[in-house]
Amino acid sequence: MELTENILKCAIFDDGSFLLEAAFNLGITDASENEEVTFAGSVIKTSPGDLIEAENAICKLLESNILGIFGPTSKPTLNYVQTIADYLELPQIITDPVTTQNRNWSAVNLYPNHMAYSKVFANIIEMKGWTDFTIIYEGAELLPFFDNILNIEDLDSKEHIVINVVQLPSGDDFRSQLKVIKASGSVNYVIGCSRETLPILLQQAQQVGIMSDDHSYIIMNPDFQTLDIDPYKHGGSNITGIRFFDPTMEDIQKFISAINEKAKELSENQIETAIEGNSLNFNLALVYDAVMLYTSAIKAMGLEEGGNITCESDETWSFGSSVVNYIRTMELDGLTGLIKFDEDGLRSEFEVDVLEVQSHGFEKVGAWTFDGFTEMRKSIPPVEQEGSDSMKGKHFIVLTALSKPYGMLKESPKKLEGNDRYEGFGIEIIEELAKMNEFNFTFEIQEDGVYGSYDAKAKKWTGMMEKVMDGRADFAITDLTITSQRQRAVDFTSPFMNLGITILYKKPTKEPPNLFSFISPFSYQVWGWLAGAYVGVSVLLFFLGRFAPEEWQNPYPCIAEPETLDNQFTLANSFWFTLGSVLTQGSEIAPIAVSTRMAGSMWWFFTLIMVSSYTANLAAFLTVESKFYAIKSISDLASNPYNIEYGAKSGGATFTFFKESDNLLYQKMYKYMEDHPELMTQTNDIGLDWVKDETKNYAFLMESTSIEYMVERNCDVAQVGGLLDSKGYGIAMKKNSPYRQPMSESILQMQEQGKITRMKDKWWKEKRGGGACADDDASSAEAQPLVLANVGGVFIVLVAGSAMAVVCAFFEMMVDVWIIARREKVSFREELIAELKFIFSFSGDVKPVRHRESTGSGSKGSKKENMLDEEESQKNGDLEPAPTPHSERSSHSRHTSHSRRQSNAKQLTIMKRYSRD
Ligand code: GLU
Repeated sequence: MELTENILKCAIFDDGSFLLEAAFNLGITDASENEEVTFAGSVIKTSPGDLIEAENAICKLLESNILGIFGPTSKPTLNYVQTIADYLELPQIITDPVTTQNRNWSAVNLYPNHMAYSKVFANIIEMKGWTDFTIIYEGAELLPFFDNILNIEDLDSKEHIVINVVQLPSGDDFRSQLKVIKASGSVNYVIGCSRETLPILLQQAQQVGIMSDDHSYIIMNPDFQTLDIDPYKHGGSNITGIRFFDPTMEDIQKFISAINEKAKELSENQIETAIEGNSLNFNLALVYDAVMLYTSAIKAMGLEEGGNITCESDETWSFGSSVVNYIRTMELDGLTGLIKFDEDGLRSEFEVDVLEVQSHGFEKVGAWTFDGFTEMRKSIPPVEQEGSDSMKGKHFIVLTALSKPYGMLKESPKKLEGNDRYEGFGIEIIEELAKMNEFNFTFEIQEDGVYGSYDAKAKKWTGMMEKVMDGRADFAITDLTITSQRQRAVDFTSPFMNLGITILYKKPTKEPPNLFSFISPFSYQVWGWLAGAYVGVSVLLFFLGRFAPEEWQNPYPCIAEPETLDNQFTLANSFWFTLGSVLTQGSEIAPIAVSTRMAGSMWWFFTLIMVSSYTANLAAFLTVESKFYAIKSISDLASNPYNIEYGAKSGGATFTFFKESDNLLYQKMYKYMEDHPELMTQTNDIGLDWVKDETKNYAFLMESTSIEYMVERNCDVAQVGGLLDSKGYGIAMKKNSPYRQPMSESILQMQEQGKITRMKDKWWKEKRGGGACADDDASSAEAQPLVLANVGGVFIVLVAGSAMAVVCAFFEMMVDVWIIARREKVSFREELIAELKFIFSFSGDVKPVRHRESTGSGSKGSKKENMLDEEESQKNGDLEPAPTPHSERSSHSRHTSHSRRQSNAKQLTIMKRYSRD
């Protein structure tokens, strides 16, 4: 018997694509092939959820003498069409996860029954031994699919099983629900959601940080194997799901290429390839299976034509319920495995493979049949085999704090999600480390900004340290200082930055003009040395004057053989000479001897340099505004003459430094901070605000790198004093973590390549208002008093010159004594002793001439004898004394001392007489 093509199976699809239609048509074609019975399909597409359209479609299909109805797929229309089909007793074939079936109705649902379906997952959960898990589901219609899961009992241990149930909200942002789940501490999740929602949910779970080694997932969607698992396969979390068919099987591959052909045909070549690789979904295979099952039943029942019924008539199709009942007794090996119905007409006996996500892809780890779960092998994740220190492909929770510039919220007009929300120096370091070590990460923020210290009373760590120790975070990065105390609790990588504690305070204020600012160009030390040099050189000149024979001059050039010689370098004159030159005024005293000239010129050179330096620096002091520094160092702050309040970040490394220090000064400061908890801050930013606050007089103890960042942007604050210690920032992780070595190595590599320096320059000097105070700093250069180091060289030249002058004076004296001794035929020794005696007798500035009959300044015999000689020569009218070397030199000398003249009264008398004659 040959059935004609006017026997129709009809379908209504409202999924909006060609694929269901293609699968349906493919089923019709395959059912008709090589058979004496051929079928024809008629498809009407309606808008999803449109009941009127669906009703019109069914009435239209009824006109064609149909055998049954397939679809539709959206729940409201499906239920509506089901009511109509039931009324008309027209078989309706369903392939969707709906549960509203009744064995009297005309519906045959090929989708596995919810009780059996939930049993699959209940068995998997039991196999995994979960006693505490969270069910995450998308829509209420899926709830029946959790029936057996919700009724799991732990028979072995009689332990209470804790099950949390969380429904996902509509829309596509589930992060807040996921955060709540994370906060609950649950680490095992059963997920029931649509295929469309699944990747979004998993991605957000990763962002929220519940996709690490500690987390396990069971995915209930039958299309689990079509998921792109690349983002999750290295993440470390265990992800399990099921499949109804193996996409690599030959018949599935054939089906995929056939359906692609059909879809191409239907879309008029708009679709090249509709299904690729493993992306064949369960529903398409089910539609095909449904067509095959139904056509087999029709063929087996030998039905020639469909029910001649219409929407208008009250008639029902008399064979309808027989077809339905027949189908329910059938068994078929379809694409989706064994198709068999239980006595309630439900598809409960099916088989599935249990899959797990591994780093190489999906792996079948077991199989489920109605009799239970058979485990095929205990999988060992390849990542573990690689060595536990390998970070490749793993996912880590990185804890950071919103502390500028280490971690900051990105400024963007768009709403940012996940890791994209953050930027900063620490964030960039982690991004770079992730690239180098090929790991995935999710940032989590330490909202309260507490980095962590040991609370001795509560006997536990706080803040970020606690989270790292508990394993709630894998790494912590921020301006987290490596301290010995912390190092005992966690591991740190090599430091990525070095710093020390110092003070942040307001920039110094303008100092009121100082009446005595002329003192400022030289430091007190230099003034002291200057005074010393003045006294020293003056006294030296006095000595040199006595030593140098040239300095003993005939006071009256007209007297050829004076009885005495004068010396201009009395002590007073020496001081006057040096003072005159240092004040650039001169003094009418001119040195004559080489030695005194040498000493004099050294002094002039010295004064030239000193006076010019003074003038130059005075100009700087008068033009540059001088500043008032309330504190210049940590000791100023500790002694605190201006009542400056101060504090540090509470629980931070700076505070701990003062607490642990045995230095008395720091202990005093620690006591102060402990007594003033209100001056301690939660973050560095608050510290900065308090320092800037005009109503407060507050200094903030903090770390130099953070101060550097702040003074680049806040021109009214500055670092005060040097660094109190030297330490570094590191990335914290659990004690004995296998990741310390690779992370430290990568940090060192980054340092060697100069990457960290570049990052620092970028975040400190360029981004977010960096460099705002650069000009300010240049203009704030201050005049500094010259210290000995600036002018010490001139003092050295002066000392050297003076020493040479002393040698020279001694030499001059010796030569003179030697000449006189030879000329006067006296012993050199006697003459030298006589000369030295005179020099060191300090008997005034008049020197009696010892050998008057001869020239030279040497003396022989007593002053009395010399005077007698003088008188004799007067009597002889010897009024024209022969010129002596001294009298010739006298033109050089300018006498200023009256006393000397008075002491030479005798010579005066001679002169008067000489002029009278
Ligand atoms: N870097 C410090 C720490 O790790 C916080 C800032 C401070 O104490 O100055 O605790």
